[in-house]
Amino acid sequence: MVKSGGTDLIVWLHKSLVNPDYVIDLTKIEQLKGIEISKECIEIKALATLNEVASHPSVKERLPALLQACLAHSDPLIRNRATVVGNVCSAIPSGDLIAPLLCYGAVVEIAGTSGNRTLRIDDFITGPKQMALAVDEIVTAIKIALPEGKSAGCYLKIGRREALDIAQAAVCCTAFEKVTREFRISFCAVSPRPVRAIEAERLLNGTTKMDSDIVDRAVKLAMEAVNPITDVRASREYRLAMVEELTRRAIKSCVEQLEGGGPT
Ligand SMILES: Cc1cc2nc3c(=O)[nH]c(=O)nc-3n(C[C@H](O)[C@H](O)[C@H](O)COP(=O)(O)OP(=O)(O)OC[C@H]3O[C@@H](n4cnc5c(N)ncnc54)[C@H](O)[C@@H]3O)c2cc1C
Repeated sequence: MVKSGGTDLIVWLHKSLVNPDYVIDLTKIEQLKGIEISKECIEIKALATLNEVASHPSVKERLPALLQACLAHSDPLIRNRATVVGNVCSAIPSGDLIAPLLCYGAVVEIAGTSGNRTLRIDDFITGPKQMALAVDEIVTAIKIALPEGKSAGCYLKIGRREALDIAQAAVCCTAFEKVTREFRISFCAVSPRPVRAIEAERLLNGTTKMDSDIVDRAVKLAMEAVNPITDVRASREYRLAMVEELTRRAIKSCVEQLEGGGPT
């Protein structure tokens, strides 16, 4: 197995949850460090930590849901080690960074002994702790196209306490002002693999006037998109109730941002 920040891997090794023959530490590979920005795209390289991503000006200005998810993750010390790519490669349903990356249409860059390839993040995570990654491949970066024009984003997480806790449920909503408005909604900790609320998005995208009735209908459709479990952190029923409330708040926040209030 490869190690980036080690904030998951070292814990799993201590608990004997994994038993690799070798651990390959990536942290000395210069080409995997940093964040690159072009006019259209941001490239978060494999060793970029959550704190590096959260303090990047382009993330602050143009990817608010990604910023909020970084800051909702753990605490400042863990965020200094944990990487965005490591969060994606852990592929746990409660990974905070996965939902915003889904909403922003992130692409995963992969390198292996037989060459390089890219996969959409939706196709990369195939189940809990499962990825479409061969044993001789690593992820080198995650790329996100920067939204053009006006956009909004919101990531709302609920846990048993404010810091150092994995989500009981979280909702990400983004909205892009194009010819018409385009909404995207995804979740954390309420489905075995990342999902978007496609039917809810469709309803919101076709709406010219947003009122509470439309938002209520979108929220109901969002609840149908998820399939939470009961575990030590929360019951299925509680998670569904949180999806209902957080989705409503996240949609409202995006509408307010687009209609002039700025990011909330
Ligand atoms: C105290 C504590 C609090 C935490 N709080 C949260 C939280 O609030 N939210 C949350 O989502 N997570 C949380 N975590 C989990 C963890 O911090 C994150 O999942 C983190 O982002 C993992 O990144 P890493 O760089 O540390 O990954 P690592 O531990 O280095 O690796 C994780 C997994 O990804 C694989 N991997 C890493 N890099 C690559 C690569 N480049 N290519 C292929 N595979 C790779 C490893 O082999 C391993 O399977 C917490 C962990 C701790 C210890």
